[in-house]
Amino acid sequence: GGTAGSGGGSRFDLEKETELRFEVEAGERVQLELLSGLAEVFGSELNRNKKYTFGPGSKIAVFTWQGCSLSLTGKTEVAYVSKDTPMLLYLNTHAALEQMRRQAERDNERGPRVMVVGPTDVGKSTVCRLLLNYAVRLGRRPTLVELDVGQSSVSVPGTMSALYIERPADVEEGFSVQAPLVFHFGSTTPGTNIKLYNKLTSCLAEVFSQRCEVNRKASVGGCIINTCGWVKGSGYQALVHCASAFQVDVVLVLDQERLYNELKRDLPHFVRVVLLPKSGGVVERSKDCRRETRDDKIREYFYGFRGTSFYPHAFDVRFSDVRIYKIGAPSIPDSCLPLGMSQDDTQLKLVPVSPGRDLTHHVLSVSCVEDDTEGGESRSRGILESPVCGFIVVTAVDTQAQEFSPPSPFTRHPGSTCNLFVGREGGKQNHE
Ligand code: ADP
Repeated sequence: GGTAGSGGGSRFDLEKETELRFEVEAGERVQLELLSGLAEVFGSELNRNKKYTFGPGSKIAVFTWQGCSLSLTGKTEVAYVSKDTPMLLYLNTHAALEQMRRQAERDNERGPRVMVVGPTDVGKSTVCRLLLNYAVRLGRRPTLVELDVGQSSVSVPGTMSALYIERPADVEEGFSVQAPLVFHFGSTTPGTNIKLYNKLTSCLAEVFSQRCEVNRKASVGGCIINTCGWVKGSGYQALVHCASAFQVDVVLVLDQERLYNELKRDLPHFVRVVLLPKSGGVVERSKDCRRETRDDKIREYFYGFRGTSFYPHAFDVRFSDVRIYKIGAPSIPDSCLPLGMSQDDTQLKLVPVSPGRDLTHHVLSVSCVEDDTEGGESRSRGILESPVCGFIVVTAVDTQAQEFSPPSPFTRHPGSTCNLFVGREGGKQNHE
């Protein structure tokens, strides 16, 4: 532990290449201050004499390459200094990627596309954040591709997204999510609809490639893809699919030799598969903890993060004004499928949902794709494959009033039927 400091905090003096790890107790907040030297949190540099606040449940590592003194104020569950970190290996990985970017720049080619894989709780998201931070600190413009539908660092759970990184992550808040490109998946595990998961992975790869064609910096910056912790069966196949869709050059495997060997065997020989150790600091998270993180993420979407408050408003929408779909029809026996149709098609089918009370408390993605068919058939593929423009929460459903004539869904209209809750401005920027 640290020693009691003058301001009521504990003081920690760190030697070079060590890190202070701490967890914030439930219901508590902890303040961190850099007193002297240099230090970073997952690749974001700390400013001296600035107080950083971390909320309940935060698990943080403050690493120093040069040595530093830190102060912690507030109730931590644990707080200790570790000399044993894989940071040097991570830094070397970054250096190798940077080398590839330099080469890409020189030869007018594209920069490294990196996929980070491994089981749950090995620090995949953290490694992604670190590599993105190091790249952007050198003036690069990498793209974060977030395929972890359970614990997305970019948008609400159940989404798959891409974020163009233009500045280092905020120490407290993470990367600024000004203009993410977000696709609706609709579940927190890929297994719910693996066809859709793979389809959306391909969509993201396509959009990213298109961006690279028109934006040289994006192309040289390359991408870092964060994946799910499901690494067996269809989960494994999804990783192989992702590697091929994005044409990845490098795969970083965290902490699992078996997965490393399988990928080495199954991916083309020119893909560099690298096994990296996980950090001893990575904390295993319980089911409850994961659920809480998900809830926080949704709350954050609607209300903002500490510094920036959003004021979501509720309004009513008539059933007849909107079309609500879910993706994927229940599977039916092959023998009952119409001629020429496969189970795949049913998994990617948009099924109209008639609003009922069971819709209450559901988060819905809002699509602005024109849906000009009555049956929802001809344009339906377009909706599925297009980024969403925001999310709403259904707070109440009034089935009695459903015959009222339709007002516009994004303007206030009393006396209609479906009470919705809208955050931000529907995230219009998503279409960029
Ligand atoms: P994964 O993406 O593999 O599920 P994460 O990167 O989300 O894992 O890490 C799990 C948790 O561990 C996160 O809360 C993260 O902040 C924390 N963590 C990561 N690295 C460290 C470390 N070196 N020391 C302390 N906590 C860490």
